[in-house]
Amino acid sequence: MDAVSQDTFAVCEHCNAINGPLNKYCSQCSYPIRGSDEEKASFRLTVSSRRRFLGDAMDKVKSARNAILGLAALFFIFGLFVGFGMDDFATMIANLILCVIYLVLAVWCNQNPFGAILTAFIIYLTLIVVNMLIDPATLFQGIIIKVVIIAWLAKGIRSAHEAKGYLKELENLRAVPVDAD
Ligand SMILES: [Zn+2]
Repeated sequence: MDAVSQDTFAVCEHCNAINGPLNKYCSQCSYPIRGSDEEKASFRLTVSSRRRFLGDAMDKVKSARNAILGLAALFFIFGLFVGFGMDDFATMIANLILCVIYLVLAVWCNQNPFGAILTAFIIYLTLIVVNMLIDPATLFQGIIIKVVIIAWLAKGIRSAHEAKGYLKELENLRAVPVDAD
């Protein structure tokens, strides 16, 4: 009885799912349960490479999150400067509100990096456009810093999008995102 059930069913080495007699690949995770050693090695390689890509993408996401925190700090400092240095309290309040929004986005980045970085990017571009419409000369003020921030956030959006894809792939492979070994 035991011998028959061993021939008939196979427990997946990768995800422990029980597979029927005709399955070459695990029905749950597509591990080649009845495949060659090369096929098994190739499956493991796929899982470890996706984990590595995910790790690299998450490093760039963290870097974009730091850029969002940096912008929050800049709005705060600039707000205090125009408020107490130039008695422009309306601009001060606008900058302090932006500071709070960017702090919230940095926190949200832990749950939804793609949504948070994309929102930070859109708000930042909108600000540049609004300032430009009010005073065209502002476009070129700190233009290099603006370009760097835009590029940094754009890279973060792409990495957050890639990270979502790798997470989905690992989920389909029934593999946890971080190597347990
Ligand atoms: Zn499996």
